[in-house]
Amino acid sequence: MNPELALSITSASKTFDTAHGSLHALDDVNLEARRGEFVSIVGPSGCGKSTLLWAIAGLEPLSSGIVKVHDEEVSGTRRDLGLIFQDANLLPWRTLIGNIHFPFEIMHKSPDPDVIAGLLESVGLNGFEQHYPHELSGGMQQRASIVRALAYDPELLLLDEPFAALDAFTRDEMNLMLLDIWERTRKTVLFVTHQIPEAVFLSDRVYVLKPRPGRNSHVFEIDLPRPRTLSMTTDPHFFEVVGHVKQAIYDDAHLEFGKERRLAAESLG
Ligand code: ADP
Ligand code: MG
Repeated sequence: MNPELALSITSASKTFDTAHGSLHALDDVNLEARRGEFVSIVGPSGCGKSTLLWAIAGLEPLSSGIVKVHDEEVSGTRRDLGLIFQDANLLPWRTLIGNIHFPFEIMHKSPDPDVIAGLLESVGLNGFEQHYPHELSGGMQQRASIVRALAYDPELLLLDEPFAALDAFTRDEMNLMLLDIWERTRKTVLFVTHQIPEAVFLSDRVYVLKPRPGRNSHVFEIDLPRPRTLSMTTDPHFFEVVGHVKQAIYDDAHLEFGKERRLAAESLG
């Protein structure tokens, strides 16, 4: 038992039964996050990043392995974590504040208006409470979904490629906002992305997964100082760290590409 650990994944494996047979999505994946850490997972599409997040959230069980959140084994959906997806998933017929209140209504709980006002202020959405989602930009909708997730005051925040659909400038802005919230609240964050510079910029530690089936590849401790600033992303040391992570992913991919090219050559006779 380690009280410092917010999250531990031990030997996570997952096989899906599909119409085309069984699909091995995760194989013996191990990952840890200490309380208050910012941890990212990067890896190519299909390497099981979302499957892992769903298992942590208790939404889709593993085939084998153990997920512990705050030293408690996950066996169903939990309320002490916040989930944020690529799509903001706001209800179009509800105002921004109506969307933030929605989870509280489902749980028959009262939202704390001061907490919500503070969060809206910190993401620059104060004054937009009565707007409908279609009246907000993509970035504003995603900020609203972050407020919705944080309004519950979860200790662990799981983000699945949350800014992937946004343009590069808005993504930078969102990353700074997320770091600002994280530095003030010290939530534990597990952030999934396929953008390597984004993972390096945000994280204390980056786990690289490789695909077919999804497995651990490398782990990088990111030693860039905090607080992080956008000017760091033009620093030679930043490029060096990003380069190391990229190299790890390309090394993994090279083996796969090599195999595929050989197979293609064989099939051509
Ligand atoms: P990532 O998020 O890294 O892109 P996913 O976790 O979505 O990867 O998917 C990992 C693998 O598992 C993929 O091959 C995907 O097609 C498969 N997969 C994911 N969810 C399901 C499901 N519900 N049923 C069958 N296969 C799935
Ligand atoms: Mg995914």
